[in-house]
Amino acid sequence: MFFIFGLRTRVDRSGVVQQMCRNCGNHAAQVISRRSTKFTLFFIPLIPVRTRYVQQCSFCGAQYDIAKAEARRLPVG
Ligand SMILES: [Zn+2]
Repeated sequence: MFFIFGLRTRVDRSGVVQQMCRNCGNHAAQVISRRSTKFTLFFIPLIPVRTRYVQQCSFCGAQYDIAKAEARRLPVG
C-alpha cells in the first residue's frame, strides 16, 4: 500500500479592473487572480490549504497580495 500526495495550486483569473496601482500610481488595468492551494491525495484535491488573492498591474507588472475582502469588493465580472 502506498500513497501519492502533494500540493496543487490552481490559479483562477477572477477579472480585470481599472484601478490605481499601488506601485507605479498609474490608473491602469489590474488583473485579479485567485490562487488556491490544496492538499491532494492520489491527485485528487481534498483539503484547501490556503487561498491567496493577487493583483497584477498591466502597466508596470507589479504583483501583490490583496485581502479576500478586497478582492470581493472589486467589481469584477
Ligand atoms: Zn503599476
